[in-house]
Amino acid sequence: MRPLDIQPIGNELAIKWADGAEHFIALETLRRACPCAGCKGEVDILGNLYKTPEQPYAGNAFELVKLASVGGYAIQPVWADGHNTGIYSFEYLRRVARRSEVSPKPPESAPLLRLVRPSRKN
Ligand SMILES: [Zn+2]
Repeated sequence: MRPLDIQPIGNELAIKWADGAEHFIALETLRRACPCAGCKGEVDILGNLYKTPEQPYAGNAFELVKLASVGGYAIQPVWADGHNTGIYSFEYLRRVARRSEVSPKPPESAPLLRLVRPSRKN
């Protein structure tokens, strides 16, 4: 799946996919999902995970400075705190987007609640 358009809007990243789907990912969510070794840890050939201890994010860690495209298969965001080693493949991006997806439809129960609301006429 390829994005047709990726655009930072406010504190979100708006992505329009080739299949017509549109996603908005909060920049904070995007940063927290950073797939680089420093953020996600590195697995050696024996399967041991090496991970640097959780580090607090700088105040500007969720500000996007620029978005580079990588080889036509990924994007590489540059964050205001200087972090730029995360390469988000489109496939990964799609997964992050889906995970953080907010249903555009109201929850199933919403219309029911409206139906049972008493309408009194005096
Ligand atoms: Zn990272």
